[in-house]
Amino acid sequence: MLTEDFHPDTTLDKLGEECGIFGGFARSGNVKEIIRKGLFKLQHRGQESAGISCGEETQTLVKAKGLVMQALEDSAIEKAEGRFGVGHVRYSTQGGSSAVNAQPYLIRYMNEHVAIAHNGNVEKAMKIREKFEKIGEVFITNSDSEVLLKRIVFGLKKPPSQWTFEEIGTCLGDDFSNGAFSLALALPKRVVAYRDPVGYRPLFVCEAKEGCFIASEDIAFTGLNIEKVIEIMPGEGVEITENGYCIKRFYGQKKECKCVFEHIYFSHPASNIFGRNVYMTRVELGKTLAETDSIDADIVVPVVDSGIAAAIGYAQKSGIPFHTGLIRNHWVGRSFISPTQETRVNKVREKLLIVRPLIEGKKVLLIDDSLVRGTTSKEIVTMLKKAGAKEVHFRLSSPMLLNTCLWGVDIPTTQELIAAVYKEEKEIAKAIGADSVKYLTLQSLKDTFGQTGWCYRCFEAQKTKDENPQSKTLALTK
Ligand code: SF4
Repeated sequence: MLTEDFHPDTTLDKLGEECGIFGGFARSGNVKEIIRKGLFKLQHRGQESAGISCGEETQTLVKAKGLVMQALEDSAIEKAEGRFGVGHVRYSTQGGSSAVNAQPYLIRYMNEHVAIAHNGNVEKAMKIREKFEKIGEVFITNSDSEVLLKRIVFGLKKPPSQWTFEEIGTCLGDDFSNGAFSLALALPKRVVAYRDPVGYRPLFVCEAKEGCFIASEDIAFTGLNIEKVIEIMPGEGVEITENGYCIKRFYGQKKECKCVFEHIYFSHPASNIFGRNVYMTRVELGKTLAETDSIDADIVVPVVDSGIAAAIGYAQKSGIPFHTGLIRNHWVGRSFISPTQETRVNKVREKLLIVRPLIEGKKVLLIDDSLVRGTTSKEIVTMLKKAGAKEVHFRLSSPMLLNTCLWGVDIPTTQELIAAVYKEEKEIAKAIGADSVKYLTLQSLKDTFGQTGWCYRCFEAQKTKDENPQSKTLALTK
């Protein structure tokens, strides 16, 4: 029985991120099973589609919509053979969920195969695409990843087996040095991977008994006989051949700008991203939140699963007892997933079950990692009150979400973001029916991670007039 429970909250009112990647070389002779298992551990980064391209001189591509174990079931990957390959799980952004956008993309150029798997978003891709189109180049997808691949092909104009690591890196650095990309290419008998010079998205390389592999998160290597795991630095990449791996710099170091949301929500709690353990960081954020809060509640309850670590941290610091007063129904399938507000609300009712005796007559401190539109939070607060909660105080272990993302995270428009619409904690509390709302401050977040080296754009208010929220009723009625 398959469920979407790898990262369940993506089915609720949460942010989506584009993608996880896994690839490399398997000594055993066939890399597909290792890639499939790696993608399975990255499922939380994307549930829309999954794919693998693998081979030696030539490659076989398998990709389909659905979860890893559906899209890449045994019969589907039966014919994929070879020691080298890349794989991808994809989160679909608005308007981009069609099967044609599923990755990897495999092309034949000068009679050789190249496959690309990309995590991130490169703003400049649209301009470059237009330039290509003006000279008669056609695109199959509407994805920036295809533009990246075409840019490399156009820059090198020779068989992929002759592309050097440095030459590919120059093509990427020349045109996309401000974009977000952690990407991998499967070439004839080689895999190369690159992390953008700013370092928005994570990328790791692993040396194991089974071979050498790259992945978006280090937990994807779990299950291998690991000898070494190294985080690739911004502007660096790795070349993997049958002789092993080599980490190389392809672009000068720029001012780092790592996505702080990888820690707040996207990455798996067990992962170690940008030099920090994700779970421990979330606990720390919960503690910091408690330090700046003075509410006297009876019980700390996390929104499962996203709020658990922060709620534990909050409870430890405040001394208020922690209980999972909300329990997830693990068996609600993907058929419930739908992007409309009405179905999101139905989803909450189907998915979250309340432990009544814990809630009845209590002042509940509800904790989540972030608040996007407020639709599901409103429903959860309503459910808790119906179950007899005396008061529900909502706490967020990240600051107000006020802005969109340009680097690969699907954040709704500011007209839909509840914090951008209502601005004040009091107003937000009123809108979701809570007795109070309190966010972690941006300053506290920066104190935790550092003033520089991190991206905080989505927590900073829009400056341009035309992007400001137009109506206070839009967020909760759409
Ligand atoms: S804007 Fe937000 S989600 Fe996007 S890269 Fe920056 S921190 Fe991450």
